[in-house]
Amino acid sequence: MEIFEYIANVFADVSNPKKRIFFGYLLLTILIALVWLVAVRRSSFKRALGQVFDRKILFSPSARADYKIFVINRVFTMFISPLLLSQLAIATALYYALHDIDFLQRGVFSDTPKGVIVALFTVTIFIVDDFTKYLLHRWMHRWPLLWAIHKTHHSAETLTPITVYRTHPLEGLLYGMRGAVAQGTVMATFLFFFGNAVDLYTVLGVNVMSFVFHVTGSNLRHSHISIRYWPWLEHILISPAQHQVHHSIARQHHDKNFGVAFAVWDWLFGSLYLSERDTDLKFGLPPSEAHSSRLLDIYLRPFSDMARVVRRRYHRIFRPKPVQASSDKTPVTR
Ligand SMILES: [Zn+2]
Ligand SMILES: [Zn+2]
Repeated sequence: MEIFEYIANVFADVSNPKKRIFFGYLLLTILIALVWLVAVRRSSFKRALGQVFDRKILFSPSARADYKIFVINRVFTMFISPLLLSQLAIATALYYALHDIDFLQRGVFSDTPKGVIVALFTVTIFIVDDFTKYLLHRWMHRWPLLWAIHKTHHSAETLTPITVYRTHPLEGLLYGMRGAVAQGTVMATFLFFFGNAVDLYTVLGVNVMSFVFHVTGSNLRHSHISIRYWPWLEHILISPAQHQVHHSIARQHHDKNFGVAFAVWDWLFGSLYLSERDTDLKFGLPPSEAHSSRLLDIYLRPFSDMARVVRRRYHRIFRPKPVQASSDKTPVTR
């Protein structure tokens, strides 16, 4: 592969409407932020522009680390993704496995009008995808081994749309496998019960629901523009301000708002936190867990943290502490 091809590949997401940092979504993000600041926050246009393009945020050491991680992770992805099991492979295997279950009748709903099948599939795949993201995200905060990996994302001290890429490659791998399993399962189930009419309603080749999520400012989740929704809506959809709460180091915000598009999962499972007006949030990790934005730290620290978690467990299993050591509590993670 030539160097120009590499560079084009690294920045492919900017021209891909399936990705959050597609340039069209970024432009809309800027527009939404400006309208919000001027119309709702009563800022002057000049001040609003200054807030959206705040150099202190866009060029902070944390943001500069985000940009480097973005490029490095894209190169990782180029090499790793061909090795991963695709959703098509999982869908095919599951589809044939379903044939072996006697009481399931193939094509039982194939008489359903095509429009209904497509609408059902479009909605189901989005909901299942969103719910599995919620679950994995929640586990990444709960389980110390996974927290060691997810900490990379939370080490960001300033938020820009590129912060969404500030993840350890192992997290990318886990989310990739989750996506393949979730989408493959929905595809196989629909094909089996509804037949070949299964299709997606799309805009620019993107699931229409994902498209709506992105054009309504998904990029603002990782920004300092804290757009809030009405409280009733924040029970249904995660607002940008609610994801910013998720990044806050304040103790009361830990383990809250794991959702991506829907807040209903957080509401159902007790992790919902509504945004609050005029709270000055500080982003990052608490001092006890903080590490630098140096690339070596970002890529290698999760391995040493995971090794420490394993050592601690090993120590607990084979060298139990005396009974009086009642401080044996699960470490607080977020
Ligand atoms: Zn998180
Ligand atoms: Zn985030």
